[in-house]
Amino acid sequence: MDLALSPEELDFRSELRAWLADVLPEGAPQKGKNLFTQSRDDTVWWQQTLNEKGWSASSWPVEYGGTGWTDAQRQIFAQECGRAGAPTQSPFGHTMVGPVIYTFGTQEQKDRFLPAILDGSELWCQGYSEPGSGSDLASLKTKAERDGEDYIVNGQKIWTTQAHWADWIFCLVRTSFDGKAQEGISFLLIDMKTPGIEVKPIYSIDGEHHLNEVYFTDVRVPVSNLVGEENKGWTYAKFLLMNERIGIAGTDIIRSGLNSVKMMHDHLSETAGESYDQNTVARRYAELGVRLEALEMLESRALTAAEGSGESMILPLPLKLLGTDLQQDLADLSIDILGDSSLPRVGYGFGEGESGNEPNIRARGPEAMRSMLSGRASTIYGGTSEVQRGIMSKFVLGL
Ligand SMILES: Cc1cc2nc3c(=O)[nH]c(=O)nc-3n(C[C@H](O)[C@H](O)[C@H](O)COP(=O)(O)OP(=O)(O)OC[C@H]3O[C@@H](n4cnc5c(N)ncnc54)[C@H](O)[C@@H]3O)c2cc1C
Repeated sequence: MDLALSPEELDFRSELRAWLADVLPEGAPQKGKNLFTQSRDDTVWWQQTLNEKGWSASSWPVEYGGTGWTDAQRQIFAQECGRAGAPTQSPFGHTMVGPVIYTFGTQEQKDRFLPAILDGSELWCQGYSEPGSGSDLASLKTKAERDGEDYIVNGQKIWTTQAHWADWIFCLVRTSFDGKAQEGISFLLIDMKTPGIEVKPIYSIDGEHHLNEVYFTDVRVPVSNLVGEENKGWTYAKFLLMNERIGIAGTDIIRSGLNSVKMMHDHLSETAGESYDQNTVARRYAELGVRLEALEMLESRALTAAEGSGESMILPLPLKLLGTDLQQDLADLSIDILGDSSLPRVGYGFGEGESGNEPNIRARGPEAMRSMLSGRASTIYGGTSEVQRGIMSKFVLGL
């Protein structure tokens, strides 16, 4: 495996760096936000900005609005966005439902939904989990019954990230109670404005509102919003989960977080005196950097694995597992560096009083705490670490 970038890739990286420096507002590298902590406005703005350049769905086939980049270019893109502190792209549209629609959907669905994902004019959320059906997803009970040209949907989803601002939800619903649980599931696209949908907030450990319960009471959904075949939704659901897990590894977010740690470390090494344990932080920083390099190599393998091959089915699992562990260790290091500055306090906004490479530690702390707390969930969503380990032990080790 040749890890060196080719001259063309180096040119591509230079072009990206210049564009990112030009397009990101002053102070963007200090934003330090993630999917959960950034605002809807930032999410839409970034999607629109990428779309104007034709870069909003880098992995999609060109015919649907993708870039035609090589896997290496896509990875460079993710790394450079992370380095530059760009906002995180919402994965629900471009990583999750978009590929399901262009792979399994009708032409009408492709024409209707893909352009609005690309330009950020419609945001999506994911209606998979239900109370009692998380790891054991196939046991889900939200049902869709056929009534003429509509389905009538009744049931409840839970932990639905950003349902309170999403325009659409892609949902797994039960269309048959016969046979194996997996064989009675269908994949529906539902407009969040449809009468009968109620969204209730769940406040998470960071004190913020990212998560929701979504209730469906006699919600009418046109049959034309069924993706693929009725009762074949499990196949599309698994396809989507593999893409989701690659994304959750979050190499770009980790890269951005490491840059932030480095900046704080440099600043404190100069200003904090002996109370600041430079050597320990430097050692932990180096260890995380090495783990990130290894993760990026694994990510390359996962991205380049031939579709349908054993590697393409298995590699997303360790990628998610190792990536989320790394995200959490990085967040812990940030909090250790910031010390009591990470305690919530009134009167400081993130990035306030910062200029160039001079972080304002007191303003940075509370955001780091919010990120650390919300990041506890990364080893749960998209499939818990325990379940990932279980699948790997079964399919890789044959246990
Ligand atoms: C922040 C956050 C955001 C989320 N966003 C979404 C979203 O947008 N859309 C969506 O549909 N869902 C979302 N989820 C739900 C998430 O996918 C589920 O929480 C997850 O799949 C676990 O399911 P559960 O919560 O029902 O826990 P359970 O499945 O009840 O698991 C409880 C515990 O038992 C362990 N366990 C369960 N089965 C096994 C097993 N076979 N072997 C070993 N251990 C096991 C688990 O690891 C866990 O520790 C989100 C969750 C969080 C925390």
